[in-house]
Amino acid sequence: MTEKPETHLDDSRQLKDEDSFCFSCYPDRECFTACCHDLNLVLMPYDILRMKRRLGMKSGDFLKKYTSVHVGPESGFPIVMLRMEGPYLSCPFLDREKGCTVYEDRPGACRTYPLARMARRTRESTDVEEFFCLVREPGCEGFKDGREWTVRSWKDHEGLDVYNEMNDIFGELLQARNETGIKQLDADQIDTFYMGCYDLDEFRQFFLNGPNLERFMESEETIARISDDDEELLKYALRWVKKKLFQGGLLSCGVGCGT
Ligand code: SF4
Ligand code: SF4
Repeated sequence: MTEKPETHLDDSRQLKDEDSFCFSCYPDRECFTACCHDLNLVLMPYDILRMKRRLGMKSGDFLKKYTSVHVGPESGFPIVMLRMEGPYLSCPFLDREKGCTVYEDRPGACRTYPLARMARRTRESTDVEEFFCLVREPGCEGFKDGREWTVRSWKDHEGLDVYNEMNDIFGELLQARNETGIKQLDADQIDTFYMGCYDLDEFRQFFLNGPNLERFMESEETIARISDDDEELLKYALRWVKKKLFQGGLLSCGVGCGT
């Protein structure tokens, strides 16, 4: 068995929006699509929303067909990973001739490369502090004769702002868990986490149509907003999980998730 080459995260430079780097990825590169194999690609909640919507699938069907789930030994959270396929462990959305078949809706990690985003929120502030590091995948030719980008122009080119906004709301939920000191979730909590974060159509059915009473805690305006807009529903679901699991629950704290 050959060892998988290590990804090279260059953390010697912390890049901010105005900092620059050189990179170009295009189909004529010899390495075209080489980076879409044998990946440990963790999907964020918003990645799943974008891809299942593009494919016209229910989130539950998408999760069953394309992903595997692991409960992180340290975090205790369910983690969803894209399942690689076939003898070359290819991404299921890779076409050898055409490249990525979900390009406009590909996951945030695919869009962000060759950068990696580090983000944190301090207890004192609601602002998220972020910086980026360069990642050099073995065999990636994108750094040869690359064109110059700033981090800001790369984020605009790749449509990253909405992904980062959603990922930061997910991050609030993970941070809330850390602040409680809870080490492991029980099976019911894992199910709640999985539904609210990843299986959005199941959450919609449960929250908006099922026999639960929590939706009556919310204003008609909030219910209308989350009924009509997937992104708003996902933001709501992430905040609902946070309150339900780590902040005393909706009913007991009397605060909705409509913010
Ligand atoms: S989603 Fe697209 S860009 Fe990302 S690994 Fe799969 S084929 Fe490659
Ligand atoms: S240049 Fe890098 S990112 Fe682009 S196809 Fe080649 S390996 Fe993938």
